[in-house]
Amino acid sequence: MKITDLRCAIIGQNPVVRIVTDDGIDGYGEAENSKPYLKSHVLFYKQYLLGEDPTDVARVMLKIRRMGSFKPWGSAVSAIEMALWDIAGKAAGVPVYKLLGGKVRDKVRCYNGGIRFPMSGSSPEDYAENMQKMKDSPENFGFIKQGVAFHSRMIAQVPGFTYGDLRGGPPHANRGPLTEKGLKHVIACVEAMKAVLGDEVGLALDCGPGFMLPDAIRLAKALEPLNIMWIEDTLTGDYTPYVMADVYRELTRSTTTPIHTGEQIYLRENFRELIETHAVDVIGPDPADIGGIAELKWVAEYADLHGILMAPHGVFDGIIGLAAHVQVAATLPQNFIGFEYPVARPDWWYDIMEGLPTPIVKDSLIDIWDTPGLGVRFIVDKAMEHLVEEDKSFFD
Ligand SMILES: [Mg+2]
Repeated sequence: MKITDLRCAIIGQNPVVRIVTDDGIDGYGEAENSKPYLKSHVLFYKQYLLGEDPTDVARVMLKIRRMGSFKPWGSAVSAIEMALWDIAGKAAGVPVYKLLGGKVRDKVRCYNGGIRFPMSGSSPEDYAENMQKMKDSPENFGFIKQGVAFHSRMIAQVPGFTYGDLRGGPPHANRGPLTEKGLKHVIACVEAMKAVLGDEVGLALDCGPGFMLPDAIRLAKALEPLNIMWIEDTLTGDYTPYVMADVYRELTRSTTTPIHTGEQIYLRENFRELIETHAVDVIGPDPADIGGIAELKWVAEYADLHGILMAPHGVFDGIIGLAAHVQVAATLPQNFIGFEYPVARPDWWYDIMEGLPTPIVKDSLIDIWDTPGLGVRFIVDKAMEHLVEEDKSFFD
């Protein structure tokens, strides 16, 4: 089998990759809906893919994996990798998890990082009220992640929150020392959320990036009695193209609150120091940014050997991304906690694809399906209605 074409369409806001082959099997991958600008970057790799056998996934990836970087520039390679696995699974007549080593569980756990309700402000009462709505959502999530501090509107809505200047521009521009008032405000909001959740539902916190090390240490230590699942991306994260493992290690050594990072990190090589020096307790690579699902599997196994837990990021990965999460999570070692449930936006995404269980999430778990490849398919005539003019030939 040979690859004859690589295509990319922006459907809604999600870049969708389609790899076409000479024997009629095609494969799909998807990048985050926060990256609608990715099309030309995806198509850059076409020259390296044409003529390759897509079922030799690792050999194809050796050609292109060097030509990517930290978020957002690892996502094109990652979406291509997903599409290669989709083809390999369809060609073998098996779900992708069989090709990744087989499943070690029949259901995969996910958590709420994306089913959201409008928040009226950033007070502890606002956080508590909002958390009650998420606790009551029908998916019955076993744990929920909420943004605080630099990963929220708190920095702008709470006067005197930080000694730093407020900046606009590309995502997560803000960074600076916290005032005592700012620190106490974060703690009060977390206490208010925990009062709602009790010990029935776990709470994880997305915090930055933007913290200075001493503030991150003080926050982590103050939260110790609350048994938070993790505090994420205090020092670096999201769109920061570096790791700072030694600084994370200082934070992790100082506290019993689990420290988490990794959604922006591309390739196993860039997780090496973080894992080998035990710089964090939990890592959260995104299969749509790390370089694909096999890359994520490899990192999860290596993390497990070092006592580090696994909670993959995924909120913006869409339905094909969800399928990729389910396939790889089926095979992850026992350091797997759960992945961040991707919510497809707009809602019509759920009308243009098939293959998902109904409902998708039951008691925070998703049943693993057994259809070949990633196991989700476009309903082409319905999907066509959402293609922009320049992408009309995407399904041809
Ligand atoms: Mg995050």
